[in-house]
Amino acid sequence: MTKRLILFIIVICSVVSFGILAEDSSESAGKAFAPEPASGDSLPEGQLVYHEPHTGRTVFVNQKNAHEFAKLPGPPHIVVGSQAKAGNTTFNLTFADVTAGNGQGFDDAAFGAARRSTAAAVATYINTVLNETTSSTIDVDFQTSEADGGGALAFAGTFWATSPNRYGNGFAFSHITTGTDPSGSNSDIQVTVDFGHNWNSELDAPSGGEWDLFSVLLHEFTHGLGFVALVESNGNSSVSNGNPGVFSHLTDGFTRITGSVDLWNSSFTFVGTASDMISNDIAFSGTNATAANSGVMPKIYAPSSWEEGSSMSHWDTQTFPDLVMKHAVNSGTQARSYGAIEIATLKDIGYSISDLQSATAEPDAGMPLNRAVGLVITVVILACLGSYALRTRVV
Ligand SMILES: [Zn+2]
Repeated sequence: MTKRLILFIIVICSVVSFGILAEDSSESAGKAFAPEPASGDSLPEGQLVYHEPHTGRTVFVNQKNAHEFAKLPGPPHIVVGSQAKAGNTTFNLTFADVTAGNGQGFDDAAFGAARRSTAAAVATYINTVLNETTSSTIDVDFQTSEADGGGALAFAGTFWATSPNRYGNGFAFSHITTGTDPSGSNSDIQVTVDFGHNWNSELDAPSGGEWDLFSVLLHEFTHGLGFVALVESNGNSSVSNGNPGVFSHLTDGFTRITGSVDLWNSSFTFVGTASDMISNDIAFSGTNATAANSGVMPKIYAPSSWEEGSSMSHWDTQTFPDLVMKHAVNSGTQARSYGAIEIATLKDIGYSISDLQSATAEPDAGMPLNRAVGLVITVVILACLGSYALRTRVV
């Protein structure tokens, strides 16, 4: 039988380099991971920054470019209200394609309505997971869609303030958890999708060559919710460009697996080495996430070559091929709900989580045997797919 060509496309996103080396730090590590209060995120005391993990894009918002990051005008196209439970998060979805009537992406004549509906379904799902008692309306702006099919499937980000140094999760987290919008003139989460790729826009299963829009949008939303490392290859903060600096709660939990050494300390300082970043030996030490992984700290994607936009901001894909926040996705596959590890991680970084959700374990979460079976199945699919070229892309 003729062997099928399996096309692996790795998108290494553009490198944003500030050209400043990490400061040496002699502070000792060894703290236990614990979320910091969200209040530190609630006031943009420093300069406003937009950060997008997939592209590594970090933009300081100023008068000249403020329009790029301003909340999209007009009433939202879809309002996803709070569910019949304690949580009170409402998602306002606005689509620049629709506002412009450009006939592309979310305004596409054939698929636009389905794509918007899928985006709303993602927000609805997230609302079943989050269980905040404060009321908030979160603006999710879908920027003008791309159509060249030449880069990442999609990318998303949220806003941060460059000071004071702290562990936070960005403005969307702050808004959701405190009810106070840190920056009313900006959206909470920005998402851009490249519809030049072959998408499964609907909620049925993707065919072998299709990228599943629900799965990718859930991944992007989750970056916007604060699942991001905020660290450069030298240990500096992506936001404040320093060390100590502004890092995420996820970053705060990063631990060198060998020896179980914390890489950040309680003074918002990276105390590891640059080689740790490419050691393939990093895990997240969150208490709930570790418990959800059968007592083993879940492994973070830290490949031997730094991948801007992928390294440190995702789960290790080989270890967790089924999780939403793995670094790469295969066409023809879907991950439309968080694994138990991911729900636990959202709890670790400071979200209130629905009891129902936190008690619902993903079938293969924390079970090495099942993960192994999953890997075998993936390999079999890769080997056996007939007329489709199964593709992999970073997400
Ligand atoms: Zn990602």
